[in-house]
Amino acid sequence: MYRVVIDYDKCIGCGNCVKACAMGVLEMIDDEPYPVNPKDCHGCQECEKSCEQGAIKVIYLGNKNNSFLRETEKG
Ligand code: SF4
Ligand code: SF4
Repeated sequence: MYRVVIDYDKCIGCGNCVKACAMGVLEMIDDEPYPVNPKDCHGCQECEKSCEQGAIKVIYLGNKNNSFLRETEKG
């Protein structure tokens, strides 16, 4: 399971990451990208590579039974 994290201070709303994602994880809303389908992310990092601003990062959270993830979801 992956989490897509976007730094909106760095993002210039170019939409490259949305175009780069073949899984339809990202969508532009009010000129900013949002991970609308995070469950479909398979961690290919194409969105990261497409971002010239370094504004988008894909983080691996481990599998569903991972205790780290359960901790993260609680908080
Ligand atoms: S890592 Fe791949 S599947 Fe996940 S949001 Fe980025 S481009 Fe899409
Ligand atoms: S590619 Fe980077 S700068 Fe462009 S919309 Fe996506 S996160 Fe923002």
